[in-house]
Amino acid sequence: MPDPRALRTLPSVASLLASAAAGGFLRSHPRAVVLGALRDLLGVARAGIGEERVFLSREEWSDRILSMLPGELASREALPMRRVINASGVIVHTNLGRAPLPEEAVAAVVDTARGYSNLEFDLAEGKRSSRLSLVEGMLRARTGAECAHVVNNNAAAVLLCLAGHARGRDVIVSRGELVEIGGSFRIPDIMAESGARLVEVGTTNRTRLSDYENAVTGQTALLLKVRRSNFSIHGFTEEVRTADLARLGERAGIPVMEDQGSGALIDLSPHGIPGAESLRQALSAGPGIVTASGDKLLGGPQAGIILGKEDLVAPLKTHPLSRAVRVDKMCLAALSAVLRLHADERRARERVPVLRMLLEPEGRVRARARRLMRALRASGTVLSLAIERGGTSPGGGALPDIFLPTACVAVSHPRIPEEAMEERLRRGTPPVVARIGKGKVLIDLRTVRDDEVPELAAAVLDAGKND
Ligand SMILES: *Cc1c(COP(=O)(O)O)cnc(C)c1O
Repeated sequence: MPDPRALRTLPSVASLLASAAAGGFLRSHPRAVVLGALRDLLGVARAGIGEERVFLSREEWSDRILSMLPGELASREALPMRRVINASGVIVHTNLGRAPLPEEAVAAVVDTARGYSNLEFDLAEGKRSSRLSLVEGMLRARTGAECAHVVNNNAAAVLLCLAGHARGRDVIVSRGELVEIGGSFRIPDIMAESGARLVEVGTTNRTRLSDYENAVTGQTALLLKVRRSNFSIHGFTEEVRTADLARLGERAGIPVMEDQGSGALIDLSPHGIPGAESLRQALSAGPGIVTASGDKLLGGPQAGIILGKEDLVAPLKTHPLSRAVRVDKMCLAALSAVLRLHADERRARERVPVLRMLLEPEGRVRARARRLMRALRASGTVLSLAIERGGTSPGGGALPDIFLPTACVAVSHPRIPEEAMEERLRRGTPPVVARIGKGKVLIDLRTVRDDEVPELAAAVLDAGKND
């Protein structure tokens, strides 16, 4: 129980509001906001008295509460979603918003968001048009697909394809591909939601073409291939290539669909990153439909890309679910800007942040680490600092087997344990998301932009300060 005598020393809200300090804020903030902040601060003070038996005079309480008012008001004004510095090294980090957009896409979003656009208006003809016609042609050109459609994300793309082509019928999938990607995307669950029946074939580690062949019946609507984008299996394994599945589909008159996942538009293998099949390569294996995300290796906004044969993709555009999972104008603005960059592969590699981070030579990452070290040392910090080599993963359900060599600044404080340092960085301004390794906080420079280095240095110094 709080001490009733101590509670009586708390100032009233009215007296706080009438103070000169609060008066200053009442000129720049709505009264209700200042009042709410003061009430909350009083509540915290009351709780403190209850727990810790703090005894202060009324004047001391007033001073203490009013000194906390600016911080309280600032945190109320901050938007809940904040920019963070990704020093985790994970490039397509699902929890941190996946792909950062290229400047060209950011400009397109701002331009579109601010005013009106020809989203569904044919300017030449002066009549209504389809919002997707703006990006469809670019998608066809970049991938060689006959037809293209865009929805809210890849989970929606898979759901729409299954609902549109297999509701009430069977879809054959290998047991080794019944994957989960992020907590809420599980192939069996999506299948159930779409109304399609899942027919599992093969085993976890081995599935042969004959397994699919033997499972085909008059009820089979689709043969589905799912890329294992966030794990890999090794050892005694066997899987059926999409090309072979496509040939079986052709013989049996059953469409084949591949959930390609990453959405890579360029073949990364000549650049030392094997295993990331591009959408063009996926389509050339012959499936009728390919689906992918817009915000993984494509490097664009959150979106679900559906590509394939006209007779399979076009009907999906008028399916009732399509409206429920359609994309908004800002997504289309960003996507078209990213697709435009991909018209020239080299330009895409230089301008699309996901590709730039993925392909940046280790030496350049190291140079950035050295810049950070210099900025930290210049201020005579107590932190011990060293540059360490490390490996980072592309992340976000793309390229599970790839480890990119990277450079980290390893930070340790003589008195603050690494977990506490990591937390201080996370709670700082701007928040910095780092990782812990070998008893140190590791700041991975592969996912940090050049222009973020000064801010990052300030945040690290701040986290290393003694209270
Ligand atoms: C990432 C991924 C998904 C889910 O895509 P979202 O865009 O996150 O909805 C589905 N399938 C595969 C193979 C993936 O890699």
